[in-house]
Amino acid sequence: MPKYHIWTIGCQMNKAESERLASYFEALGYKAADSITEADLIVLNSCVVRQHAESRVVNKLHALKALKQANPELTLAVTGCLVNADTAKLKKRFPQVDHFSRPGERPPWLEGEGWGQVLPRNPAICSYVPIIQGCDNFCAYCIVPYRRGREQSRPIPEIVSEVRELVGRGAREVTLLGQNVDSYGHDLPGKPDLADLLYALDPIEGLLRIRFLTNHPKDMSPRLIEAMAGLDKVCQQLNLPVQAGSDEILKAMKRGYTVERYRRLIAEIRDKIPEIALTTDVIVGFPSETEEQFRQTADLLAELRFDAVHVAAYSPRPGTYAAENLDDNVPELEKKRRLDHIERLQEKIATEINARLQDKVIEVLAEGKVRGKWQSRSRSGKLVFFSDNGDRTGQLVKIRIEKTSPWSLQGRAEG
Ligand code: SF4
Repeated sequence: MPKYHIWTIGCQMNKAESERLASYFEALGYKAADSITEADLIVLNSCVVRQHAESRVVNKLHALKALKQANPELTLAVTGCLVNADTAKLKKRFPQVDHFSRPGERPPWLEGEGWGQVLPRNPAICSYVPIIQGCDNFCAYCIVPYRRGREQSRPIPEIVSEVRELVGRGAREVTLLGQNVDSYGHDLPGKPDLADLLYALDPIEGLLRIRFLTNHPKDMSPRLIEAMAGLDKVCQQLNLPVQAGSDEILKAMKRGYTVERYRRLIAEIRDKIPEIALTTDVIVGFPSETEEQFRQTADLLAELRFDAVHVAAYSPRPGTYAAENLDDNVPELEKKRRLDHIERLQEKIATEINARLQDKVIEVLAEGKVRGKWQSRSRSGKLVFFSDNGDRTGQLVKIRIEKTSPWSLQGRAEG
């Protein structure tokens, strides 16, 4: 039986696609290799959204060169965001690679039925379901639209039947994925939206929770907020990347909203869903970002008090508008200082937000055991560890919180 190994880096979309690739290989008669050196087929599912991720992919490809030389029978394939339309150029740069395939594409060198409907045989309790590929936005810094193409939504009936199947195989929570998930459906006949999809998924028996990521502020509609507020299974958690707290920088980033519009959106969401946990993404050190503009970002985060902030230092991605047209003029050390500042600020805010949960009882969904403790998440997406000797896999459990930190909570099951 031939063996496969998949190496994955990057976002949840890549992880979901790797799970599907694994199921596909198994349907074709492959078996998972215990280690990379035992594999007959190695797939790298790559990410180039940040320089750091791209460097790791390139290093891995260099490391695999020796393996390929030692075993010419080995098939080496690359998918994910490294793969652009110009595969001839990639082939020249990485001659050790046998096949390149675009993200989300069926491995074109393998023949088999059912690509698109291959689901993990034993899905995770919390499974990921891609619902829209690509992005139409062309934010100045972002490589995604060039690598994953324009937005392409999957029809509602296909997603509903897939989620039903996943739940039948043991999943209890689904996270609907898209680079721009809240613009779901505009390219489909009849233009359904993400709210329509949530209404269609909510009645599925056995499904306990629904989440979705990631969103663009300009596509967050009142209808979607209403659906979130009204549907029991939709969790009170929302990632809404703001990226910067300065209107000039938002404009340079081509984000399509102002700080004031973003602020009003947050107020509306908090008004309709008071228990919502909000998270955001921020880029510091964008070309021409002044100290004052950076301050505005820090001030906005201090004002809006997110549950979590994912902060990145700007790195130019070749081919994007910013890389080709703007001067990357914030020194690396200064970017690092700004990044550290935001991280420290957010650590303080998250410490305070989570401390409010001390001694409270919250409901979590138990995913599995990690080093003797149950790992679970609250409806608001907080990571909660608890001790319990019973089998709690896939169950909703009430937990009394005994210890809090900015990153996770600990507690004990109540009854
Ligand atoms: S919306 Fe997100 S994925 Fe799309 S271009 Fe902007 S940053 Fe990239």
